[in-house]
Amino acid sequence: MKAGVVDPNEYASDLSADGLRVGCRGVVPLPGRIAAWMPSLLRDERLHQWVDRYGSPLNIINPEPFLAHAAALSRVASERGLSFRPYFARKANKCLAFVDAALDNRLGLDCASSQEIKQSLLSGASPGDIVCTAAVKDADLLKLCISAGVTIAIDNFEELTEVDSLLARENTSAGLALRMSGFVHREEKLHSRFGFDLDQARDLLTYLQGRPSSWRSINGLHFHLDGYCADQRVSAIRQLLPFVDSLRRAGEPVSFIDIGGGLPVCYLLNEADWARFWREHRRAIAGKRGEVTYRNDPLGRFVYRDQVLGEPRVYPFYQQLTREAWLAEILDTVVDDACIARQLNSRGLELRCQPGRSLLDDAGLTVARVEGVKSLRGGDLAVQLAMNGTQCRTSSVDFCVDPLLVERRGVDRQSTQDDEETGYLFGAYCTESDLIIRRRLVFPQGVDVGDLVALPNTAGYFMHFLESRSHQFPLAKNTVYDSTSTEVLRLDRIDEPRSEGVQ
Ligand SMILES: *Cc1c(COP(=O)(O)O)cnc(C)c1O
Repeated sequence: MKAGVVDPNEYASDLSADGLRVGCRGVVPLPGRIAAWMPSLLRDERLHQWVDRYGSPLNIINPEPFLAHAAALSRVASERGLSFRPYFARKANKCLAFVDAALDNRLGLDCASSQEIKQSLLSGASPGDIVCTAAVKDADLLKLCISAGVTIAIDNFEELTEVDSLLARENTSAGLALRMSGFVHREEKLHSRFGFDLDQARDLLTYLQGRPSSWRSINGLHFHLDGYCADQRVSAIRQLLPFVDSLRRAGEPVSFIDIGGGLPVCYLLNEADWARFWREHRRAIAGKRGEVTYRNDPLGRFVYRDQVLGEPRVYPFYQQLTREAWLAEILDTVVDDACIARQLNSRGLELRCQPGRSLLDDAGLTVARVEGVKSLRGGDLAVQLAMNGTQCRTSSVDFCVDPLLVERRGVDRQSTQDDEETGYLFGAYCTESDLIIRRRLVFPQGVDVGDLVALPNTAGYFMHFLESRSHQFPLAKNTVYDSTSTEVLRLDRIDEPRSEGVQ
């Protein structure tokens, strides 16, 4: 399988995964999309040995889907004659194999800390490959960007004046992007704590013209919106274009618009499953059926006078319009008599974006060992994993994809219909709330100590974004899958003892 020529749809529905689904599913099932490389890996006889060697849980990543997705985005842009570059948002996964893959394939890197920038430079990135979008930028970070020549996405006037004084003091130059927000969409202002409000455009122009500087140039405009709405991005681009024109008239060499991340990912096989889950969940927390979540966890909703209200606080695990189709929809939307792609093109603007989650779709999984199984009051099992909840968690309150069960080898399980069990996956932290998944699960052939539980598609945020070392447990090891190597797995450079020492 050669990177860059793989059809991403090839990953979408792999029938050979079906056999892996039989051992575990939700009581209301949410079968996930399983990338094509995963079934053979999960059936490999050495899987248990690898978990023994590297520890549980074990993260396994694969940069090939990552590159295929980036290529698909580039194709959408080039079909529309656009000059385009994606900057991989590093915060979505810390593994350096993705950095290496990005750099080998001329993708840029969106870095949000000094550490991410230093690692990227040590990995061979040139300063032009990096954009710094850190939410908080201390003086050391700004100096690092300036001395290395990394583009800084400026968030506010304080940052802008600080950069200006650093440049004057050090007699050097820097290329900047202005992060913008405050766009109006369907007559409402989109809230953000980041960026210059578009209402400050005039003040920005006044500032830039009042303090002309041969050191500082505004090379681009940037935004990153919350949520996944394509139409909001159309509104944002449309409202930025007149500002591009004004900046250029003021002498700024604005050459790109960077539309940030938030490209949607679909984790589930079927929309109907997703709708059914929420129907059954509503009935359960209203007391009209048995639990579908642990102790009827409302997943962010609440019951008020027999009504189930509020939105679930979970990522939209099923979405129809994803990644490249989403980008195409934005670029093909016609506003003011021309589509967005043409409007960018007619100004000679390069399109940039900062995808994190969407490049990491299909690009990793997490495997954990069952360390204990006991019965809870009421008959459900507590399946205890050598793992904790922070090792598969984002701001979404649950991971809404069914796990896959890989049975311990060498045991002949004479399963009968009577072996069916239901229960929950718990983690090793000493809190009542440490669940790996809050949904109630069925194990049609039972579950035992030594079995492995695989959580599919965890590379985007789930592995790393909230991982913690409470109880002084070590962090999970990260390995890179390589189908061409006899070893199959190797440790990612991030876990090599000295390579990370970039202090
Ligand atoms: C988090 C973030 C991204 C990546 O977002 P995804 O949803 O993972 O694509 C890109 N840019 C900025 C500024 C971010 O904060």
